[in-house]
Amino acid sequence: MMNTSALKKTIQNKTELITKKELLKIAVNDPDLNIDELKKMKVNELRKLLKITHKITADTEIHYVNNLGFCFSCITPLRADYTSSKSNNYCMDCL
Ligand SMILES: [Zn+2]
Repeated sequence: MMNTSALKKTIQNKTELITKKELLKIAVNDPDLNIDELKKMKVNELRKLLKITHKITADTEIHYVNNLGFCFSCITPLRADYTSSKSNNYCMDCL
């Protein structure tokens, strides 16, 4: 049986797709990036550029991760032929 703290951790660890707003907040700290240009970009382009697709909230910490090449929903690796197609970020089960 899980102890209470392990159980708590499982509940609190969650992976979410990162939003454009959050990406812009991260990018604004990088002087090499032109924030006005980034604002015009689509969220998928920003995720590729910044190499961040998801955030994982673990207790009070937030980790940014790059899950390109993985299904954005269930985080399983995508086959190469999926990633070249238009609906590239999701596996067949999650589409
Ligand atoms: Zn999936």
